[in-house]
Order: sequence, then structure tokens, then C-alpha cells
Amino acid sequence: MTAVMKQDATIGFVGNPNSGKTTLFNAFSGANLKVANWPGVTVEKVEGMMKFKNQRYKLVDLPGTYSLTSYTMEEQVARNYILSDDVDVIIDVVDASSLERNLYLTLQLLELGKPVVVALNMMDIVEKRGLEIDMHRLPEMLGVPVIPVSARKRKGLGVLMHAAHHHINAKHPDKLIHGHDYTSAKDSKHAHEHHRDYTMVYSDKIEDKIDLIIDELRKKYPEIRNYRWHALKLLERDQEITARYPVDLPAVIDRSYESDIINEKYDFISEIMNEVIMNRAEREASTDKVDAVLTNKYWSIPIFLGIIGVVFFLTFFVGDFFKAYFEIAISWLGKAAASGLMSAGASPGLIALITDGIIAGVGSILTFLPNIFMLFLALAFLEDSGYMSRVAYVMDGIMGHLGLSGRAFIPMILGFGCTVPAIMASRALETKKDRFRVMLITPFMSCSARLTVYILFSEMFFPQHAMLAAYSLYLIGFAMALLVAFIIHLFDKEETEHQLLIELPEYKAPSARTVLIYVGEKVKDYLSKAGTIIFIASIVMWFIMNFGLHGYTQDVSLSIGAQIGKAIVPFFRPLGLGYWQLALALIAGISAKEVVVSSTAVLYGVSNINAAAGMSTLAGLLGASGFTALNAYCLMIFCLLYVPCAATLAVIKRESESWKWTGFVALFQISVAWVVTFAVYHIGTLFI
Ligand code: GDP
Ligand code: MG
Repeated sequence: MTAVMKQDATIGFVGNPNSGKTTLFNAFSGANLKVANWPGVTVEKVEGMMKFKNQRYKLVDLPGTYSLTSYTMEEQVARNYILSDDVDVIIDVVDASSLERNLYLTLQLLELGKPVVVALNMMDIVEKRGLEIDMHRLPEMLGVPVIPVSARKRKGLGVLMHAAHHHINAKHPDKLIHGHDYTSAKDSKHAHEHHRDYTMVYSDKIEDKIDLIIDELRKKYPEIRNYRWHALKLLERDQEITARYPVDLPAVIDRSYESDIINEKYDFISEIMNEVIMNRAEREASTDKVDAVLTNKYWSIPIFLGIIGVVFFLTFFVGDFFKAYFEIAISWLGKAAASGLMSAGASPGLIALITDGIIAGVGSILTFLPNIFMLFLALAFLEDSGYMSRVAYVMDGIMGHLGLSGRAFIPMILGFGCTVPAIMASRALETKKDRFRVMLITPFMSCSARLTVYILFSEMFFPQHAMLAAYSLYLIGFAMALLVAFIIHLFDKEETEHQLLIELPEYKAPSARTVLIYVGEKVKDYLSKAGTIIFIASIVMWFIMNFGLHGYTQDVSLSIGAQIGKAIVPFFRPLGLGYWQLALALIAGISAKEVVVSSTAVLYGVSNINAAAGMSTLAGLLGASGFTALNAYCLMIFCLLYVPCAATLAVIKRESESWKWTGFVALFQISVAWVVTFAVYHIGTLFI
């Protein structure tokens, strides 16, 4: 057989995030990658080349999406590309271990009318879990080839390419084999003929409307190639298609049928699941049992707060236990470096720079590594077990009162770890308005960098209740985020309706590998921050503290740092923070919030700031100048709420593509921080 093909056939890889698209893509294309952005958007485009049976193929890795609406950039890019003439065949990468969730995208892809081959990936996991998928019935019900593969183990790749190769010529793919039994449609006038043509058949109500819209489209827009898909999009009131192909059928499209269409797709998916997953009932039963408790109407929120409480316990108590050893190691290193340098004959200035500047600054941050590690370990555990997706579901009701979808809660929770990935996670939100709101409120969620400030100051000034003091800050940040969302919601006249579509994955024991990779990445990020930003900030701090207008000086009050600190201190005085060293540390903290701690160490010349001895020295120094527990609490609140760190601002700029918005966020946060801290300080002084 000689197939007639154009020079390079193009295969597009489509799939949900984490379905293994990139792994599969790399297995085929090897190292021949070309990475660029899709025109006009910041979504990455990766292309590769491969050869199969003397045919050259261009492979394109499309952005991972859960659906093909036009709400997010990723979805738009994927959809427009598939609709274009550039792609010849689609490989839909499906995570077989969460088939139900992945099939939603598959059904949408099939409606686009391009040749589709399903790569049923992660079959190794399916086998390990003892699940069985009916490989005869699944392609039959979908009407397209389904090839079981394991991208990681490189199994089934040849067969997959073979199927894609075959399918390229199937421009108008005939159904493979037929007959899914849509029982409810038995007496439907659509039942017979449509099932020969389409995988997804809707209820009579929708099918009637589709027919009417198609008639109209045929008359008005003869150039359209896929009438059925366009009719569906018009019924969903899809903005892009409605603008491009307006039809005047007010009686047919009397409202948006988006949720009907979604629900009917899910009905069909559960029909598929019932037929193709062999031992499903038992597994579902256990997930249902767990969900009956975890997502219970009354218990879900107390349980959620309890789980977060456990996360804090781990972060503080268990983390602190290991932190003690890090402190010993760092202070030993400081002493060893000092004596080593001394015997090598280094100048006192250099010794001071290394021990009081670099080791004190960077070391003060390194000692928090166990706390950071525990926090991310707990978050990874929650994510990989399947609980995190429930959080969005549980919180949907509350978030609805704030004009946000339950989905907005995930970036907020991730914000406890680090604001940067949290802001990036806001991409999953449907509307631009939601994304901007989440960018505004997520920085209030207390990130792990701020934790370093709480640990230090609450251990110094609330020795008996350190954890309680820190926990209260997390709650204040959380409350601020909700309050701001609520206020915006009050003044927002044109609310959009939210429809929560979160498919809840089965609960599973978290995989050690996934958790370790996740935690490993975060630890690496943290260490590289200590090695770069904090390293540099510590050196800069040391210099401005030890140099005045007339060169090196031992008298701190003559230093440049003191001058800067004194110039900005009036801004902080009304907040109970009228200490130039702290003012300077807070300004420096914009580079990264841990720098508040490392700078305080350098500024007060306390090299072992996290060890008990160092803390009592610093507490003594601060106490002597009238700094009380109230001042410490104000410092922590200010630190919680003021301008997010430079990395966060950079990612807000990137995601919003607006300097104006980024500037607004920064200004807004600092105003909120000032007002709240002012209030706390002045109310506090009334009682003390
Ligand atoms: P993408 O987001 O769709 O591009 O997914 P990736 O290719 O980045 O894969 C997500 C995760 O799934 C990675 O940790 C992969 O190593 C893993 N993965 C991909 N394919 C398989 C597979 O066939 N089996 C198993 N066990 N893991 C896989
Ligand atoms: Mg990928």
C-alpha cells in the first residue's frame, strides 16, 4: 500500500496536564526539540521530528488542558491549532489511571472532527493497581483506535505510531465498529442514524437544536467544515465562535446549554467507565466511603482546618527538632571559618565579611531548611493522595459567596508553600477576572519564606506560645485574602456565574517517587535562593553597615545603612516599628522575605541568630530599646501583608502582562499592610 502524504505529516500531542504527554513526546522525538512560544501568548510550544516507515513526522507538544473551551490561553492555543490545517493527526494522551477525568477532553477532541488516536498511557500503573480495562470495548465505544502504552517504560510506542500513521489518511474517519447502547435514546428519532456517525450523541432536546442550527449554518456559512462542532459551540454560547459565525435563532439558542452539554458528556463517560473498567465497583466504594467523611456537609471544613493544623504541627515541631542540628552545624562552620581565616592571615575586615556577613546571613536561612522541607512534604502528600482536589470542591460554597469558584482555592492553598507557583496555578481559572482576583489575594497567603520571620520573632517574644502566634498570622493572612475578595465581590456589578467542574480522582496512597521529586524541587529552589539572592543581600547589607561616606567604619551609626534606615523610619514609626535596622531589613526583604531575617542578623551583628544564645542576644538588644511582644507581633503582621517578594511581582507581571496591574498589587499590599499594622499597634497599646 502506498499512502499519499504531504512531505512532513504533523502529529499533535494533546492531553490533560500530567497525562505523560511530554514523556511520550520525548520518547518519540529524542533530543531534536525546538522550543518557542505560541504566537502572541506566553504558552510554550515544543516541536520535534521523527521518522517512521520512511515518512518524516513533525511532532508538536500542545499545552496540557482539561477541556477545549476558549477560557484559558492554553485551551485557546490547543483548540485553534487542532482546528487549523497544520495538524494531520492527533494523539490524545490519556492517563489510564484516571480515565474518567481524561475522557472528557477525549470526547471534545472527537467532536473537532480530526483524526484522533488515543494513547492510553500509564498502563504500568493500571496494571500495578490491579485494574483491568476492556481494550475491546473502549475503542468500540469511542469509535477511534485506543493503544495501550507506557511512556515511561517505552512500551507500545511502535504500535501507537503505526496507528497514527494509518489514521492520517482517514480525513473523514469512518467509525471503527459500532454500537454503544444509549438505552435512554431507544425511541429517539436520533438514536439510530446519529449513532452511526458520532461517538457522542446528546439527548433529543439538544440534538434537535443541533439540527436546526446546522441547517442555518449551512445556508449562511458554506465554508464551515465541521457543522456539528460549530453548532455545539453556538449552543454553549462560546464567545469566539458566536462572534465569528453569528446566527439569528433566538428560539433555539434561548440560553447557554453549556452545562447540559457538559453533563451529558459526563453521563456518557460514566457509561463508558461502567463498561470498560472491569473491577471498578470495589475501588469506587472505598473512595466513596472516604469521601462521605472528608467532603461531608458539616465535617468537611473542620476536617480541612484540622489537616492544615497537622501540617503546621509537622512544620513547627518536627521541623524545629531537626533545625536544632542545623544550627549547631552552622555555628560550628562560622567558628571554623573564622579560625581558619585567622590562621591564614586574612584581614579582620575580610573575616568579618565572611562570618558576620555571609555565614550569618545565608546560614540564618539555611537553618530553616527542615521546616521548609516538612511543609512541602505535607503539601506534596495532600496533593498526591487526591485530597487537594477535594479542597476546591469543599470550599466551592464558601468561595461562591466571594464571587470566586472553588478552583480559586487551590492557588490560595499552594500560597502557603510559595506564592510564585501559586500565582502560576491561577491559570487554571476560567476567566481573566478570576485570575486577576486570585493574583491580588494569593500574596496574602503566608508563604514559607515568611515562616522564617515568624519562627524567629515568635520564639523570641512569645516563647510559650510561639506556634500559636505563628498560626494566628496564617489565619490573618487567610482572612485578609477572603476579606479582599469579599469586598471586590460587593462592588462588582456584573458577576459571572461559576460552574465548578472538578473531577475528583480516586484516593490513592501517595507515591514516594512523586512526593520526593516535588519536595526535592522545592528544596532545590530554596537552596538556590539562599545561594543567590540571600547571599548577595547579605553581602550588600554587610557593606552598607560597615561603610560610611568616608570609607570603612566601625561605628554603625555612621554607616550608609544607618542613613538609609533613618530616612525611612518615619514611615514605620506609627506601626511600632520605628527602628532603623528593622526598617532597613523590611525594605531589603522585598528581594525575598527571608532576607528580613538574614538582614536582621547582619544588622544587629548576631551571627547565630537562630540558636538559643543568638536569640537571647537579639531579644536583649531589641528589648533594651523598648521593643516588646506587641512590636514583634506588628513586625510579623507587616511582614505577612506587605509587598510580595520580587519573584512574585515578576510572575504577576508575566501572568497578567500588565505593569500597571503589577504596580497596583504592590501598592495595594503595602497600603493594606500599613493600615492593618497601624490598627493592631494602636489597639494593642490600649491593652498593654
Ligand atoms: P505532561 O504534563 O502531560 O507533559 O506529563 P509529563 O510527561 O511531564 O509526565 C507527568 C509525570 O508522569 C512524570 O512524572 C512522568 O515521569 C510520569 N509518567 C509519564 N508517563 C508515564 C507512564 O507511562 N508510567 C508512569 N508510571 N509514569 C509516567
Ligand atoms: Mg508537559
